[in-house]
Amino acid sequence: YKIIVAIDGFSSCGKSTTAKKVAENLGYAYVDTGAMYRAVTLYFIGKHVALTNPREVAQALSDIHISFRRNPQTQVNETYLNGLNVESEIRKMTVSDHVSPVSAIPEVRRAMVAQQKQMGRTKALVMDGRDIGSIVFPEAELKVFMTADPVIRAQRRQAELLAKGEMVELNDILENLKKRDHLDTTRAESPLVQPEDAILLDTSFLTIEEQVELVTGWADARIAR
Ligand code: C5P
Repeated sequence: YKIIVAIDGFSSCGKSTTAKKVAENLGYAYVDTGAMYRAVTLYFIGKHVALTNPREVAQALSDIHISFRRNPQTQVNETYLNGLNVESEIRKMTVSDHVSPVSAIPEVRRAMVAQQKQMGRTKALVMDGRDIGSIVFPEAELKVFMTADPVIRAQRRQAELLAKGEMVELNDILENLKKRDHLDTTRAESPLVQPEDAILLDTSFLTIEEQVELVTGWADARIAR
């Protein structure tokens, strides 16, 4: 019996790290939908797409092809935009600063959601994002909603960026997180909400290992049902 695991929540709660490891434990595929919105954003920045011009947006969307390929050396799924590896570029602050307004555009969401639903046809999938349990897979067998204290989230994101050689002030990161939280929860089109049937997971005082163990256990229980 195969299931879909939908993981939603705020940024920098350890969503993708947890989702990736849970997928590994279950032998399931993993899809990072934030990476898809980030890739679209990178393209829009590069082409100076006017976000308020529906024709420009539609044209850009039809020119975008996003895919994931596993890096055989690191075993990491990397994001490709029109055949180019953009994995490290989409994680930079410039993209983080622009991704919320881009992902608030209804046409952008429609295109991404259609692609994500397609990826879930065969089940055996862990997908993380903001609207997976609410819009993409409302029928998912397991829904988890992750949250954590904003300052702790900012500290985690700072450490992550530092590990990649990008030095950013804690306050700038906190500002970016708060702005994104606000935009993500208040946008008209599929705002970030905790689905009623989702399990709430506050990761403020949990290690990655503990989070992974909890979610894997919940998934196993549903697979065994
Ligand atoms: O998960 P990550 O922080 O990489 O996502 C980047 C941004 O993409 C989020 O702040 C949100 O604006 C957008 N996003 C979304 N819907 C998703 C995944 C991400 O709107 N399913």
